[in-house]
Parts: sequence; structure tokens; C-alpha cells
Amino acid sequence: MSGSPRSEQFDDIYFAVEDGFEETRHVFLAGNRLPERWQGRSTFTIAETGFGTGLNILSAWLAFEQTSAPHQKLQFISVEKYPLSATQIAEYLSVWRPQIGTYLDRMLELYPARVTGWHTLHLSPRVSLLLMFDDANRALPELDATVDAWFLDGHAPAKNPEMWSDIVFEEIGRLSAPDATCATFTASGVAKRGLRAAGFEIEKRRGFGRKRDMIVARRNGKAVASPASARNAAVIGAGLAGTSVAHALKMRGIEVDLYEKAHIAAGASGNPLGLFNPRFSAQRSAESDFYGSAYALALRNFRHLQQDTDIGYHANGSLHLMLDDDKTRRFSSVQEQWEWHDDHLRLVGKGDASTISGVQVEHEALYLPDSGVVSPQKLCQAQSARSTLIAEAGAELREDAQGGWVLNGRSYDAVVIANGAACLELAQTASLPLHTVRGQISFASSRISLQANLCYGGYCSVGRDGLHTLGSTFQPWLTDTALREEDHIRILETLAAAVPSLEGAFHVTGGRAALRTAAKDRIPVGGAVPGAPGLYISTAHGSHGLLSSQIIAELIAAECSGQVLPLPRAARQKISAARFLQKS
Ligand code: SAM
Repeated sequence: MSGSPRSEQFDDIYFAVEDGFEETRHVFLAGNRLPERWQGRSTFTIAETGFGTGLNILSAWLAFEQTSAPHQKLQFISVEKYPLSATQIAEYLSVWRPQIGTYLDRMLELYPARVTGWHTLHLSPRVSLLLMFDDANRALPELDATVDAWFLDGHAPAKNPEMWSDIVFEEIGRLSAPDATCATFTASGVAKRGLRAAGFEIEKRRGFGRKRDMIVARRNGKAVASPASARNAAVIGAGLAGTSVAHALKMRGIEVDLYEKAHIAAGASGNPLGLFNPRFSAQRSAESDFYGSAYALALRNFRHLQQDTDIGYHANGSLHLMLDDDKTRRFSSVQEQWEWHDDHLRLVGKGDASTISGVQVEHEALYLPDSGVVSPQKLCQAQSARSTLIAEAGAELREDAQGGWVLNGRSYDAVVIANGAACLELAQTASLPLHTVRGQISFASSRISLQANLCYGGYCSVGRDGLHTLGSTFQPWLTDTALREEDHIRILETLAAAVPSLEGAFHVTGGRAALRTAAKDRIPVGGAVPGAPGLYISTAHGSHGLLSSQIIAELIAAECSGQVLPLPRAARQKISAARFLQKS
């Protein structure tokens, strides 16, 4: 059909521009007996193969707002291998602004960077969307959820057999509730066979418009109850880890007591400025999926927090210089293997690196234009603003008879341990292999006008009022936090060695040293504490805490409130405390 948005990859349309909205309602909503099926359900979960523009989801969201009771919640899950840009989506859906304009605007406000990973968008206090930017064959096996209704919309099976593979149907079978339904625009044999194998009964229906047939399918089991949410929680530690969790819990309506014996952001999270970047591993892996999801989440969270409170967030971009063969190989591999859209990550030559940074750079670089700086200290303040602060250490922690926890004499449905290496003082987490790493940063004035952050093992931030932050030392063997003159000298020498044009350009005016917590494998520890239901941990964030603390907070808050978990299973296992506390 002319004028309908087309997919470049599949030479097929996303929907018909003339009547796509009506088709969505006929095929996917009526095909799944929606809104009828969500009546009386506290949480209803819809999963979709092929997010495209999000039209199906926006239509379902509109119907939900029109027909649901205020206590009901809707969870969407959708997968997309070739994400469109927010601008494309806005353009393609503009004809249906009269119907779905407000929902479209909200979704686009939250739409993630096109970064391989999982992205949870809190569309409203009642409606969330887990958007998995990946191949369905790779993402669905990593998902844990109970799906009530399926929208199968991944282009015609003849044009795109991967979307209708045995793996996809096996996963539909595994993830479906006993009374799940399914609808799809196609009536092809492959869809029928796949759905039958997944335990569905098939019914052929009249298709939309000129399409003769479509399929609806159902399972005949009994509905299962949705998991209950915690009502209150204690969070121990008010650094980045603890305040991020407190904020994520409060966003879900959970009451939070935040325990801190010193003050907010007292430790390593107290730096006035920090750079945020993913940790680069050459191959795409559970770890890169973790950092991809974390990076895109941090960009959304920082941008939104900054709209209300100054958290010192500036997306001024970071250049990661390729100083040696090892870095050149690794960063080139990141660019190839991670499959991020080049709007968000690309290799640049020396010339471009110099133009982007405004200073003479002698190396090629991996460039992340949306990366930048934020004040960890202000971020902690903003994230803890709505929690009740309790000036105690929270040292006495035990299970109570009702399946909750007692901390310093108070009862909680959930407790989150987020106090860095001090978690070793609690019996439940005492055996984690954690250590501290001293890091000193320098504050330095300069007349140069640096336009992007430079990373070269060390880093040099863009200046604010002529003052730059340079870092950082990495000293696992030291445990004191007094400033060392020789560390300032070394920080400047590292910069001069990487960017000779900046030799002598900085004058140190001060600094700060703190102890970061790290695990022996240098990967954060986050999520449920094994064998202790209702107990969670977020620690060992090392040098990437601005990112890892955000996504682990999202994971813990989802676990506490019975929501779909926001990370692939392999990534959750990679960071789990169980990797140390429970040996199989
Ligand atoms: N539901 C969409 C909407 O409301 O706009 C239209 C979906 S469009 C017909 C199908 C989508 O599936 C395309 O966006 C395409 O990129 C995506 N897709 C195709 N193969 C995929 C795969 N193997 N994994 C994930 N997404 C895939």
C-alpha cells in the first residue's frame, strides 16, 4: 500500500497507513478478547513480537485507560531487533495523533537510546513497557514472565521466518499463562503448527479488510494470581547504590526507610562530579548486555531527574582514546559486536576526535556522544529526597516469623543491603569476596576549552567554570583517604602521556580520595540474596557505579513489586550474589 511505512530489512510494511489503527484493534485487541480479559485482574501482561512503531501497544494502552479500574496494572513486553528512531515513530504515527497523541508523546519522551539491551519504560504509575532491543530468538529465552496475551506481529512468515522459528514458539509455550490467548494477522501453516506445539487451541477468524483469514489461539487452563508487592522496605546505605534503590522503590509506591550512619553520599559516591560510561568488553556478552541496559537507563533517569533538580548532568560526550594495540582491538570489536546504533557509539579518527574535543588529539577514539558527567553527590541527594532517613547503621538484621525482616527492631517486607564493603559485617553477606580500591581524583583549573570528556585509562572531564575533574587512581593496596601529592602528579602525567597537547595545561586546586568497593571478578553484586527471601543486595559497583547502581536498583525494585525483571537472565546471573554464596 502506498505511503505505509516500510521496513528496509524485510521489504514489508509495519502497518497500512489507511487503517492500521483499526486493524490493530481488530486483530490484536479483539483477537485476544481485550478489554474483557483484563477485567478483574490486578496485573495483566501482554507480550509482542515486533515492536516496530509501538502502534499495537499504544492502542492497547488507550483501551486499558478507558476500561480498567484504578488499582489495575498493565505490563507490556515487546522485542525489536531493528529499532526505529523516535523521530521515525513520531512521523509514522502522526495520522493517529487524535486517538493516541498523549500516549505517543509519553512513550517517545521515554524512548530509549538504540542500544542492544533491555529497557523498561514506566509509561504511567500503572503501565510499564519492557522493550528488548534484540533478536527475538535471543531475547525470549532470557525472559522470565507470565504472559496473558500475545500479539504476534513480526512481518509475514514467508518474508521473515526467524520471527516464527521453533525457538520463538517454544518460548511462547514456556512463558504463557495457563489461560493465555494469542492473536496474529497471519493464518499461515507455520503459525498454526507453532502455536499448537506451544499448547494453544487454534481458531481461524475473518482477517481485517482485504485479508481473508487470521488466527486467534487460547490455552484452557486456569488463571494464576499475580505476585504480591512489598509494602515497605529498608535500604541500608545512602550512597549511589542505596539511594538509587530507595528512589526506584518509592516510584513504585513502596515506603522506604533509608539507614545511614554517616550522611548521604559519605563514601565513594560523594564526589562532586563523575563520568559515566559502560565497561567495554570486546565481545557481546551477558556483561555487555548489562552495561548496555544500564547505560540507556542512566541516560533516561539522569535526563528526567535533571528536569526537576540540578544533579549536574551534562551529556557532553566521551572520547575513549585508542592508545595501544590492545585498546584499538577491543574498541573496534565493541563497535562491531555490540550492535549499538552509530548515533550512540562509533569510531572516529584523530581529526574528528580533535574537532569533537576542541583540543589536539593524536589517537583514534571510540566516541559515545550521549555519555557525559553527573554529580554523584547531588544524584544521591535527589534520589533520597522522598525516603525517611534513619541515622543508624542497621547492623542487627534477622528474619521474622511472617516471612519479612526485622532491622533494628522495625519490621519490613524487604531489606536491601547497599552499604559497600560494610555488608561484610552482616551475617547474611559476610562471605562475599569483596575488597576496597582507593581512588583519588584531582580538581584542576585550566584555560583550555575542552568540549568532550577524554578517557585514556585516566580521564579528564569537560570544565565547569574553568574547573575540571581528572582521575582516577586505582589503588587496591591502600585503605586511607588522605590526599597524596604524588597521586595528583601521576594523574597529570597520565593525561600528558595520552594527550601531549595538554601537557602543563592544568593546575591542581584540590582533590578527593575515597574507597570504592569491588568484587574479586570486578563485576557488581546485585539482586536477591540466595536463601533469604525478601533480602536484596547492591554493592561492588567499582568504577562504573553511576551506571550499575541504576540498573540494579531497577532490578531489585521489580523483584520487590512482582514486576517483570528488567534484565536478561544471563546478565542477572552474572551479577547475582549467588555466584559467590551458592555453589552448585
Ligand atoms: N507491531 C508493530 C507496530 O505496532 O508498529 C509492527 C511490527 S512490524 C510488522 C514487525 C517488526 O518486527 C519490525 O519492526 C521488525 O524490525 C521486527 N523484527 C523482525 N524480525 C525480528 C527478530 N528476529 N527479532 C526481533 N524483531 C524482529
